[in-house]
Amino acid sequence: MIERYIREDLRNWENYQVQPVTGRKMDANESPFPLDQSVRERLSAWILEKEDLRLYPDTDNTVLREAIAAYYGLSPENVTCGVGSDQLIDYLTKLFLEPGETILVPSPSFSMYQTAAEINHGKAVSFPLEPENDFQFSAEMILKSLKEVRPKILFLCSPNNPTGQGLKREDLLSILSKAGCVVVLDEAYGEFAENETLDLISRFPNLVSLRTFSKAYGLAGLRVGYALADPEMIRAIDRVRAPYNLNTFSQIAASCVIGRAEYKEHIRTIISERDRMYKALGALKGIKGFHCYPSQANYLFMQSDLPDLGARLLEKGLLVRAYSGKMSAYARVSVSDPETNTLFLEAIKEILLP
Ligand SMILES: *Cc1c(COP(=O)(O)O)cnc(C)c1O
Repeated sequence: MIERYIREDLRNWENYQVQPVTGRKMDANESPFPLDQSVRERLSAWILEKEDLRLYPDTDNTVLREAIAAYYGLSPENVTCGVGSDQLIDYLTKLFLEPGETILVPSPSFSMYQTAAEINHGKAVSFPLEPENDFQFSAEMILKSLKEVRPKILFLCSPNNPTGQGLKREDLLSILSKAGCVVVLDEAYGEFAENETLDLISRFPNLVSLRTFSKAYGLAGLRVGYALADPEMIRAIDRVRAPYNLNTFSQIAASCVIGRAEYKEHIRTIISERDRMYKALGALKGIKGFHCYPSQANYLFMQSDLPDLGARLLEKGLLVRAYSGKMSAYARVSVSDPETNTLFLEAIKEILLP
């Protein structure tokens, strides 16, 4: 009935599909660590003694932006917050794209860049990451695509979801100095990688670094992301930011967790578990076409000749991210707690070995 009133280009639009949750969750790169007890106590004390949820939240996210800025040694003017970094991806395409204009993205990568561009009347063009090359970024290829496509925004994801490789610093520098467009560096998994990019914000006013509390900080349920950039870029993003975008509870919880020592410990544990899994999976290389790619994030990207690897793991109670269509040979597994990771390694051996 209302179909005919909907924007023509959205008539066959498919909403983002989330697979049903059953089994141990290794599908969405969430943290396996529960919220620290002392943070829980601070949050309950706030609910019991101080809450004033009658009131709209602080529309400027002041306390949270100050906490983030202090953690990175930046100014609050370098920070703006979103309902997940997904919202900031949407804001960036809203802000910069004229109808029909283009963003340049890697392929495969995070699907939200294209989604946001299309919802905001733009389109996405991709440059390929090659399996033969472990899906590594090539600055040369990116610069060549920039010349051909002349996008308004270049989205880079480092480490890249789902393939796991990060951009090398010298590659990033050469891209930034020649890009001639807005460069969005999605660092949702930056905490698990070695590369430091913070100093680039003051050198490149066209750079936006997107970060999130959903992965290393284990707050996916509260939807808090943020952008770090030059103050002029931050003010520009704020033009399209919805008033009161981030709720009061999320602002408080996120400002409680940033920089806490136990997260460094969590990150170290995830990295050592990732390396343990990568090594164990390396021993299965070639069996039924199996290959596991190196990763700098909290997940591993795998390939095999079994188009139903995801379904077979699910039969054993393990939910990984499986793909369809031209990606059906691939699956992505999130690094979880040691017990779950061991179950995963046992399950995949049983599936692959005759
Ligand atoms: C998970 C993820 C995000 C962000 O998620 P939010 O929960 O919206 O902050 C952003 N980019 C990539 C590549 C991700 O994998």
